[in-house]
Amino acid sequence: MGLLDIHVLGSPILRRDTEIVRTFDDELRRLADDMFETMHAAKGVGLAAPQVGRLERMAVIDVGEGAEPFVIVNPEIILAEGKVKGEEGCLSIPEIYGDVERAARVRVRAQDVRGEPFEIEGMELLGRCMQHEIDHLHGRIFLDHLGAFRRRNALAKWERMKQDYPALLRKLAPADLADHKDDAL
Ligand code: ZN
Repeated sequence: MGLLDIHVLGSPILRRDTEIVRTFDDELRRLADDMFETMHAAKGVGLAAPQVGRLERMAVIDVGEGAEPFVIVNPEIILAEGKVKGEEGCLSIPEIYGDVERAARVRVRAQDVRGEPFEIEGMELLGRCMQHEIDHLHGRIFLDHLGAFRRRNALAKWERMKQDYPALLRKLAPADLADHKDDAL
């Protein structure tokens, strides 16, 4: 188990499409464990592989609220209904937030870390989180969903803030864990 560095916006891997996972081995499960540990340390509710510099089509999700944490491997949205706007943040774009319109309810088909297929339905934070993470698995970030004006503002702010991340990596150290209280995805 170990903390992984988080790639922040500007790192090219966040714009790459991921690769379908075909081998469900211990290495994949170790990556999932490390991603959970990293996400929890950063106080996030979701984390996708490209955010830790990997191209496996996989994300981890833990929205709390009494729900079990889970891994989605090779996820696909098979049903999307309604529209709802809500604020989002992202562990790869710290301290930048925006209102994003998403489907109000989604049904996702995925595999677990052993390759077993399952389906999960989500609304509200869970539904939003799954859509946000699946976006990451195809090179998309939440800022892509904002209108041109808001996106430009957010990117201008980020241009200044990203100076704080040498090599576009966000290194988590136990000392600075306490002050991140937001639900970032
Ligand atoms: Zn994100």
